Amino acid sequence: MTDIGNRLHAHVAALFPLCRSITGPGLRDTLRYIGDHIPLQMHDMPSGTPVLDWVIPPEWQVRGATLRTVDGRVLVDFQHNNLHLLQYSTPVDRIVSREELQSHLYSLPDQPDLVPYRTSYYARNWGFCLPERLRRTLTDEVYHVTIDTSLAPGSLTYGECVLPGESPQQILFSAHCCHPSLANDNLSSIAVAIELARAMSVRRRRFSYRFLFAPGAIGAIAWLHFNRDAADRIAHGLVLTCLGDPAPPSYKRSRRETAPIDRYVAHLLRERGNADRILPFAPTGYDERQFCSPGFDLPMGCLMRSPGGSFAEYHTSADNLALVTPDSLAASLRLLQDIVHLIERDETLCNTAPFGEPQLGPRGLYHGERAAGLDRAAVLWALNLSDGRHSLFDIARRSGLSFASILAAASALRDAGLLVPAEDVSSATAAEA
Ligand code: ZN
Repeated sequence: MTDIGNRLHAHVAALFPLCRSITGPGLRDTLRYIGDHIPLQMHDMPSGTPVLDWVIPPEWQVRGATLRTVDGRVLVDFQHNNLHLLQYSTPVDRIVSREELQSHLYSLPDQPDLVPYRTSYYARNWGFCLPERLRRTLTDEVYHVTIDTSLAPGSLTYGECVLPGESPQQILFSAHCCHPSLANDNLSSIAVAIELARAMSVRRRRFSYRFLFAPGAIGAIAWLHFNRDAADRIAHGLVLTCLGDPAPPSYKRSRRETAPIDRYVAHLLRERGNADRILPFAPTGYDERQFCSPGFDLPMGCLMRSPGGSFAEYHTSADNLALVTPDSLAASLRLLQDIVHLIERDETLCNTAPFGEPQLGPRGLYHGERAAGLDRAAVLWALNLSDGRHSLFDIARRSGLSFASILAAASALRDAGLLVPAEDVSSATAAEA
């Protein structure tokens, strides 16, 4: 647990200093870092490209930004903390009155020592984010504002790691990567996704896996715009966010509410004693807003620890390396691996001898070596409910038995020819007809 936890935390620490935004060099450097650890294809969308109802914005680059007294004393400096600059600030270099300056300052009166994180992607503006305590000391008549940025045609970049499986049906994991120095909201889920992709790349995969690293909202919208065919093949998916804080895991259901992914994750949370952390769908939050928009309605929920907006450090300078812990990051990865296990192993089978109970004895399923490790009740449940309509997960839920015991029983019944994949039965029936 500790080794992988430290590895996850090291990803967060390595990426923390970069000034990410929805476009620009910090985003690209972040994708390059991800690409150093897993195979990643980068896609560039030029500014001005229409995507769904949106347009790719100009690219934002920052060289520096300071707020100074007119005699040159630096009060706020982007180099000290990239949260100080309102994201997408336009270039400015002039003396401004205190009154004008005040309308461009952002602080948190209730958390006077923290720097808030603010953006203005689509409305041209400039601004500084600073501790309320510092703001209260600004009593001069005028100040010198220097914001050395550019907003110019460029591109928006996103990255994808695609791991093909036996089936073209895909599992989509999506993590936003547009927040600057914020650890839990953004970097924790990037770190967990890197290690999940790494683990998935070396195992047998029934499904194909796609890990998407894109700036929030506009990145997901761009991906959906250019991947409508891929979207049609998504069997299950999860938006990953805030996976590093010490709170227990939580899950927001997909718009469908009872898609298999909703049932898998809810089951695992209940097993962990976190039934109270299963939340209904709402069209707020992260990129589930795009993936679960009515035209797509993808079976995608949102996996988190603390939901965004619900913790005191959210979108402030306190969402830092101390908030995310190796143990919480490792626990999130472990939960995702348990989810993948359910996704990979759940399937729907058919009983080949459904008229009366088949004789288990002659098939070695009642006594003897083959029967020894089996739960007999699990064998009977798997036989009875494998009618092409109940998956193994359904059978575990309905019987109250563990998924592992139903899986073991189904495996033995398959070996004995008593269960076959439901699709084999339906294709055989189709051939007969
Ligand atoms: Zn956020």
